[in-house]
Amino acid sequence: MKHVVQIPFDNTYRQLTESLYASQLPTPVEKPGLIRVNAALAEALGIDPQQLASEEGIAVLAGNVVPDGAEPIATVYAGHQFGNWNPQLGDGRAILLGEVVGNDGRRYDLQLKGAGTTPFSRMGDGRSPLGPVLREYIVSEAMAALGVPTTRSLAAVTTGEKVIREKVLPGAILTRVARSHIRVGTFQYFAARQDFDTMEQLADHVIARHYPDAGRAGNPYYSLLCSVIDAQAELVAHWQSIGFIHGVMNTDNMLICGETVDYGPCAFMEHYDPTTVFSSIDHSGRYAYRNQPAIAQWNLACLAQALLPLIDSDEERAVKQAQAALEQFNDLYQQSYQRRMCAKIGVVVVTGDANQLVTELLSLMGKHQIDFTLGFRVLSDWLDWDGLAVAENSLYSLPEDFHGWINDWQQHLGVGAAEDAASGNQQKITDIRNRMLACNPVFIPRNHQVERAIDAAYDGDFEVFHQLVDVLANPFIFDLDKAEYAMPATPEQSVFQTFC
Ligand code: AMP
Ligand code: MG
Ligand code: MG
Repeated sequence: MKHVVQIPFDNTYRQLTESLYASQLPTPVEKPGLIRVNAALAEALGIDPQQLASEEGIAVLAGNVVPDGAEPIATVYAGHQFGNWNPQLGDGRAILLGEVVGNDGRRYDLQLKGAGTTPFSRMGDGRSPLGPVLREYIVSEAMAALGVPTTRSLAAVTTGEKVIREKVLPGAILTRVARSHIRVGTFQYFAARQDFDTMEQLADHVIARHYPDAGRAGNPYYSLLCSVIDAQAELVAHWQSIGFIHGVMNTDNMLICGETVDYGPCAFMEHYDPTTVFSSIDHSGRYAYRNQPAIAQWNLACLAQALLPLIDSDEERAVKQAQAALEQFNDLYQQSYQRRMCAKIGVVVVTGDANQLVTELLSLMGKHQIDFTLGFRVLSDWLDWDGLAVAENSLYSLPEDFHGWINDWQQHLGVGAAEDAASGNQQKITDIRNRMLACNPVFIPRNHQVERAIDAAYDGDFEVFHQLVDVLANPFIFDLDKAEYAMPATPEQSVFQTFC
């Protein structure tokens, strides 16, 4: 029987050596029900969103029908979880249907998350409750709208089945899209088994797929390592600049392609506090906001370690090169972080003075428990502050203690009351303001809103989820009707812990 749903699969990982994966069909579910199809993303991938929302489409998204051209597999990997080595992980509840080449010419994985057990499920049931599926949909799509490299959510469906956790919960499946799901832990798995043939195949695949420039370099594997270090330095700097806390930066949750993956216990920081941790399982604060850059570097050291035999057959030389590459991380991270933070205060050219302004601002924010997102968002209201009247229609107020900093900042930018007479001042302020509003979001997936959407869905109401997803699609454009979504949690609404 010919299928109505047509997905232009073009699978490459499946053509590599079988040590990388196990063939595995999704396990059908009782009663698939559509939650949402991401129409824009479907179209960008050359998939008809209406086909996905059809009865057969929903069956495909639930794993009940395997579409033409799909070659479902579960991939194997290992990883350090909270610093502890686990030699055998793998897709325990995710099944890779195959790859498609999008309209942008790039290759993407299509994966069903929560699609049943695989050879790598260990004690798990291969399923996912509804809550985590909605959380990943909301946050990953918000991250994409914020411009952060991330896996995407193509669709979410309910399964009509129960999943047993601490409570009995309705089950759901997310269709996840990624440039690839190859992880630091994928390399670690083969390095630990000293299966260097497979590791070389994997590295060649990654170079061809993600880092073709590395393939043309003198030492492609060294170049691959440098490219991943670069991508991760950029990624984590981006996270820091928007207050994103990943929560579970295990090496199996770090993608080689540089996209954010695994939206388990993640959350956005509300009031600025570098020690913020949300994850209920992160007892020691290993993955706290301020630790994210150092943890990224630690994970990259694990990748470097795994790649050593490919970098040079002489171990000593390989170690030297790997160390040199890893030492680059800090500079790359700092460059990206400083550029992003300076941009948030309207400064284009990073200088010592500008960095000092950022440091002082953050320290004021910490002292006064200022909401990280709104604190930066409303700064541009103060560009033309005259030292007397306070910006009145501001969405969020900054205390008097900020006035001194604002004066220094205005001087640095060459705007403000003192320059009033200067010609072109107004135009200059408008330009800076527009730049600032374009990099300081007003809508982020605040934890209490995400929880509200999940709670309503557990009660059978998906409207709250849909509205939240729609609001977060335009994070930089304020809309008065949506103001409640911009606001930090009240003490009663506050969510202090997240669960994966
Ligand atoms: P995560 O904490 O999501 O990064 O997952 C860590 C490992 O546990 C991965 O190998 C997952 O595939 C596996 N895993 C998580 N939940 C389940 C589940 N319900 N059933 C089977 N495997 C799971
Ligand atoms: Mg994971
Ligand atoms: Mg997870």
